[in-house]
Amino acid sequence: MARQIYLDNAATTGVHPEVLDAMVPYFLEDYGNPSSLYEFGQQAKADITEARSRIAAHINATDRDIYFTAGGTESDNWALKATADAYKDKGRHIITSAIEHHAISHSAEWLEKQGFEVTYLPVDSEGIIDPATLEAAIREDTILVSIIHGNNEIGALQPIKELAAIAHAHGALFHTDAVQSIAHVPIDVEELGVDMLSASAHKFHGPKGIGFLYIRKGVRTRSFEHGGAQERKRRAGTENVPGIIGMAKALDIAMANFEQRTAYELELRDYLIERVLAEVEHVRLNGHRTKRLSNNVNFSFEFIEGESLLLSLEQRGIMASSGSACASGSLDPSHVLLAIGLTHEIAHGSLRLSLSEKTTRDDIDYTIDAIKEVVVNLRKMSPLYEDFLQGKKAISAVK
Ligand SMILES: *Cc1c(COP(=O)(O)O)cnc(C)c1O
Repeated sequence: MARQIYLDNAATTGVHPEVLDAMVPYFLEDYGNPSSLYEFGQQAKADITEARSRIAAHINATDRDIYFTAGGTESDNWALKATADAYKDKGRHIITSAIEHHAISHSAEWLEKQGFEVTYLPVDSEGIIDPATLEAAIREDTILVSIIHGNNEIGALQPIKELAAIAHAHGALFHTDAVQSIAHVPIDVEELGVDMLSASAHKFHGPKGIGFLYIRKGVRTRSFEHGGAQERKRRAGTENVPGIIGMAKALDIAMANFEQRTAYELELRDYLIERVLAEVEHVRLNGHRTKRLSNNVNFSFEFIEGESLLLSLEQRGIMASSGSACASGSLDPSHVLLAIGLTHEIAHGSLRLSLSEKTTRDDIDYTIDAIKEVVVNLRKMSPLYEDFLQGKKAISAVK
């Protein structure tokens, strides 16, 4: 079989074999409904309760503050929409950032249609929010601030602790989308001072379709699904028992080798960044050089179409992304790349490579060689590059 190198771990990850092993009995044998009163159901209930408490311990939360959802998208929607509804009498202003995942930004746009006012904080050229911009934007009627912890496209890590403190000083709640950062950055909800936090299992080698929302005790919220009394009456629906068991197991594994794994990813990440910046002409790194997720790399190549780059890499067995999976298919460049000041032209030439502990140095060497070759080939066919060589066009990386 031809070589395959998966460098799209920010889109999703493979389930760890031990995670699958932990889940299987809950499909075949222990399939009871946790709401059933007989022993068979009650065992499932006990097992998800135990899983909940292990997950809570990994982020220094109280068991009762973890609510299972169908993934990051649901957690983000819940955090924004239910909080807006529960606090609308206090105020109708919400603050988020210009670089959120669509699960947040599209929820925010929907809330605007419902009569809420939303401020989108800008980021600097490296994708970082200056806390002073939050201080300047926050108002008496601000009820919620929601800022992504580790960005899914450019890996930028935000000063969540400082931002949350500003929100609290002004009486607003603070939510963070930690879908990319959990298992890559230590998460302690007390230390960060967040009121709500979203996570999704399939980004850390757990199954798809399961995640959680941490909601600190005392935060007023609304039921997100209406029906049965599951999740302390806040999220109806029969629990995804195998998913919950799998998510807890995946987080256990990720946290057990946290230091070693993230150090390994970081070393590979930096090796990839340094070699590409040194060996390819007219390329820029998107996102902060060090304040970034340990597994995220994002480049923009001048005079190249990201889609062509992806296709050429795919022909060589390399799977990557030109921005975010959700954004591809649309012709608009990613809002995140525009927010850091890239022109449409250079934003279109972007490539995200996201690593995992399974990525080897050999994979990275092979990928660097492929990038070098493909970039040269594509530029040979680029009229823009031709113009540039003839001095008719300048480099246009940043507006
Ligand atoms: C993947 C992702 C989501 C959505 O999570 P799903 O479980 O796929 O719904 C939300 N936010 C960020 C930052 C993500 O990377």
